[in-house]
Amino acid sequence: MINDSEFNKKFSLPLVNGEFVNNKTFKQVSVLSPSFQYGLTVFEGIRAYYDSKGIYKPFLLNKHIKRIINSSKLIGIKLDFSISEIEEDIKKIIKISNFSNDIYIKYMIGFLDSGSWFSFSNPDRIGFCYELPSTLRSGKLEFLSASFTSIQRISSDVLSPKIKCGANYINSRMGVLDVNKGFSNSIIPIFIDNNGFISETSGACLFIIKGMDVITPSLTSSVLESITRSYVLEKIAPYIEGYSFKEKFIDRWDVLSSDAVFIVGTNVEIKGINKIDHVEFNKNNKALIDIFHQFRKIIDYKDD
Ligand code: PMP
Repeated sequence: MINDSEFNKKFSLPLVNGEFVNNKTFKQVSVLSPSFQYGLTVFEGIRAYYDSKGIYKPFLLNKHIKRIINSSKLIGIKLDFSISEIEEDIKKIIKISNFSNDIYIKYMIGFLDSGSWFSFSNPDRIGFCYELPSTLRSGKLEFLSASFTSIQRISSDVLSPKIKCGANYINSRMGVLDVNKGFSNSIIPIFIDNNGFISETSGACLFIIKGMDVITPSLTSSVLESITRSYVLEKIAPYIEGYSFKEKFIDRWDVLSSDAVFIVGTNVEIKGINKIDHVEFNKNNKALIDIFHQFRKIIDYKDD
């Protein structure tokens, strides 16, 4: 367990319902809380990049706020606070952070007090941040290995993958345990959906490059409506000359026969995939390198 001085070094003070609490208070969550008992939480992970002037720039914050509000709505949590209160919370969290480095903000809506799995009103807002240097700063694309998992991605007739809730990550966890054959997370699981199409990974969206096409699974392939995926399709694609970006249903054979594979998400940013099961991929694919360099500009991105 992390002790108080380690906590203070690694994390900002937690903000609960607009007020900073010390970490002792923060640990006093009711054991009868539905978030604790049933994982009833929705959340966002938001990156803020630190610039040479000492300013933290949250990346696409308004999109994260919209998504957490939509996740709450879909899971049946009634919000009694406004978008501007969430914005205020994030501003406060950024203001209190003194890491002088890139940070990752975790923002959750859940229930800290006693309740049941069917609690729906008076949720709590909880946020904090920690230092997380961007992997984009090195200028070198990192690569990971992946494997198809036999665990199916949650489908929209079971629990919507569009909801960024704790429970969806149990499905991700099962995929990680499956492909790593135990307690390791060195191999990334690639999920297939209930229709046999490629979905996403445990915490990021997948893209393949095949000839002059850059393809990502369609939004109806049981994927989270990823903010980074949209950013690649809308803001990066126009700069990758000659290549056509597409959203399509793809299967595992399309992935294995592609020239290059990469994943994107707020936490992973962008990572190449060098190997999936028995197949190795080109780490020097031109489109992949161009996309990476375009992606790196995120560090200096200023929200509108
Ligand atoms: N899919 C899953 C399952 C994820 O957990 C994430 C990370 N939030 C993503 C995709 C990428 O989403 P985003 O770009 O919005 O971070």
